[in-house]
Amino acid sequence: MVGHYDENLLSDMLPLYYTKYFPQNIFCRWLCCGCSPQPLSNRELSFTLADDVYLRYLSISDQKELQTLFQKKCPHKLDIGAVYNTKPSIARHDSVVLARELVFDIDLTDYDEVRTCCKEAKVCEKCWKFMVIACEIIDKALKDDFGFQNILWVFSGRRGIHCWVSDYEARVLDSPGRGAVADYLCLIMGGDNQNKKVNLGNDNLHTSIRRALDIIDKYFEEILQDQEFFSTNDGLKAFLKQIPDDNLRSQTEKKLEKLPESSLERWRNFISLYETYCRENGFAVRKIKYLVEEIKVQYCYPRLDVNVTKGFNHLLKSPFSIHPKTGKVSVVFKPTNARKMKLSDVPTIQSLLDDSTADSTEHQNNMKTSVKIFQEVVFSLEKAEAMRRKADANMSLEF
Ligand SMILES: [Zn+2]
Repeated sequence: MVGHYDENLLSDMLPLYYTKYFPQNIFCRWLCCGCSPQPLSNRELSFTLADDVYLRYLSISDQKELQTLFQKKCPHKLDIGAVYNTKPSIARHDSVVLARELVFDIDLTDYDEVRTCCKEAKVCEKCWKFMVIACEIIDKALKDDFGFQNILWVFSGRRGIHCWVSDYEARVLDSPGRGAVADYLCLIMGGDNQNKKVNLGNDNLHTSIRRALDIIDKYFEEILQDQEFFSTNDGLKAFLKQIPDDNLRSQTEKKLEKLPESSLERWRNFISLYETYCRENGFAVRKIKYLVEEIKVQYCYPRLDVNVTKGFNHLLKSPFSIHPKTGKVSVVFKPTNARKMKLSDVPTIQSLLDDSTADSTEHQNNMKTSVKIFQEVVFSLEKAEAMRRKADANMSLEF
């Protein structure tokens, strides 16, 4: 089949990809900014080679060294670590992490409990919408609630997205600070055995939760039809278990079981039942004040891998690395474009290198666009860094 990706050919294709397509210059500039005041050479890179050989504590001083390392080692996967006080080395047990972008990892496997279209490594345009919602909600919260500006969004190459916050304040944030940001953004709690995982209390909702709900509302009914959360017996049971009020739950059960299987119809009927129930029962319904919102959050709010965010030296896949299993490029994208992004639009190493593949021209263009978006983020980061250094210099002159 023309254009079919074959993992066995990766070692042959990668040298050309790294030379011709990987944006080495802008990549080094991005890492440099994140390294200030320490040099680029104190940043850890890690390579996964063919046959899963794993090399940690690599580092480079400039683009030339990166190119040499790429050609010498031909990494099948490229990860980025923290910035140390010394050149990273496996032998240096006394080295200290000084800086690290604040990172977020959102993966569709964490949605297996709710998505019905795919499981595990599989992903399709339907479940991709969960990633679109996650990206919009997290991006907004980082900008509006924390004031961060230098945010890079990257497709993980298979079934998820990564977010890198490069603002100085984010880079030097300590572990408890990272934990606090992660906890602030986490609304879904509890393991597999917990049915109801969201509790929004009964006070006025925090503006960030309101904002997240506004975003979810743009997609909720569409996702309901895509995923049919409540159309199967198991799906309906799981839904009913989220209703903590016994009377409302049994009324809902009776009504929904008689309805056709359409989740949208069942949902709309539940809403009208819930509203009537609240009107008739007044103060008794305080504990279900935000039940509708809680259910929406449980099905659609971002599910973060908080350990990745909390950890100071957690490695994360680099932008423009190739996913060895799919051949897809970890492209950078604009959060405002996430909704329009289709998985089939993502360039693969094959479609870039072999112009006889059907998608080649389109993928070449998408790759260029992605590099351009990356450039814009790096330019704005460099500008912010220059201003911060100037402000710091003025401050020290004053004393
Ligand atoms: Zn799917």
